Amino acid sequence: MTLLSPPVQQHSGLPLSETMVDHHGRSINYLRLSITDRCNLRCLYCRSSCTGLKMLPHEQMLSYEECLELIAVASELNISKVRFTGGEPFIRRNFLHFLEQVLQRHPHLDMRLTTNATLLSGKISALKEIGVQGLNISLDTLNREKFQRITGRDFFPQVRGAIDQCLDQGLRVKINVVALKGINDDELPAFVRFAEQFPLDLRFIEFMPVGEQTVWRPEQLWTATEILRDAGEIVHLDPVVGLEKRRGPARMFTIRNGQGRIGVISPLSSHFCGQCNRLRITPDGRLRTCLFSDKEYRLRPILRSPKLGREHLRRVIIRAGKVKPMGHEILAAQGRDRSVCRKIMSAIGG
Ligand code: SAM
Repeated sequence: MTLLSPPVQQHSGLPLSETMVDHHGRSINYLRLSITDRCNLRCLYCRSSCTGLKMLPHEQMLSYEECLELIAVASELNISKVRFTGGEPFIRRNFLHFLEQVLQRHPHLDMRLTTNATLLSGKISALKEIGVQGLNISLDTLNREKFQRITGRDFFPQVRGAIDQCLDQGLRVKINVVALKGINDDELPAFVRFAEQFPLDLRFIEFMPVGEQTVWRPEQLWTATEILRDAGEIVHLDPVVGLEKRRGPARMFTIRNGQGRIGVISPLSSHFCGQCNRLRITPDGRLRTCLFSDKEYRLRPILRSPKLGREHLRRVIIRAGKVKPMGHEILAAQGRDRSVCRKIMSAIGG
């Protein structure tokens, strides 16, 4: 059976050549797979506030074989884009070899990575050769000393160097900046000039109170509205419209006479749940259909069961996908002073 054959109804109720569609009519075609909960940074908004942070025992993490099985099922469900994230994905041993295997088995997959780029240097040509389409690099400051303050580590030169290598070697880069009032809002002009100078997308992500132990004060929120207003006083911004606009949650703007673009992602102040097309899988194989919901579907026992096969896995994923919630409804129900979900971001995969 190939994907070009006419649709054949499977036991799970989904024809092989159709995309999953949930109860709200959203097509689900994007999987974010977190391959480790380990990270070599201790960002103050992500992990440093978590006392006694427990790592998953290795045997509880999905093996690469199990990840490959999940991707095979996802691809049968016509999930066309997979992003590997973490923790920090480059920390996991043999990561490049794993990526190679993924693309050997699924040559048409749009494969992306999210990384802090601390271990990226020297790997760009290998990533290009493997067929990685683009990288999201997290970088919350352009200042070395502040980098150390935010992340707890002195890796700024490595990250900045890796970005230059991506640009030199033509690998598409998006820079993700978590917008933190009182911490990096003073750097807006520097960020804007950076995006003006280099052909990359620089996106500000509004801080989300993710994780029960995250220390969160509403006054820390540097909103997308403020960012765009102030950036618009530094350079002339033109909104990206049409087809391009519909790709992903960011509102993007070109910089007149500039090389790159800037954008904002505002999950809280202007949610994009109506267009959400994603599923997330945690490093221990829990399927989450919404970042803001703690409801998880345990896939690892299915993957490890000698009795339950791929068809069972398919059925569970389809059923879970069908009832994917609208995140903004969850947020509205729980009130503003709580974290949006219990787990920290590095345990989910941002
Ligand atoms: N280690 C990789 C990295 O740094 O990109 C991947 C994992 S990291 C958890 C993914 C993204 O989530 C990063 O861009 C990080 O800044 C972002 N993130 C973590 N906690 C966040 C929060 N509370 N609000 C908004 N973004 C957050």
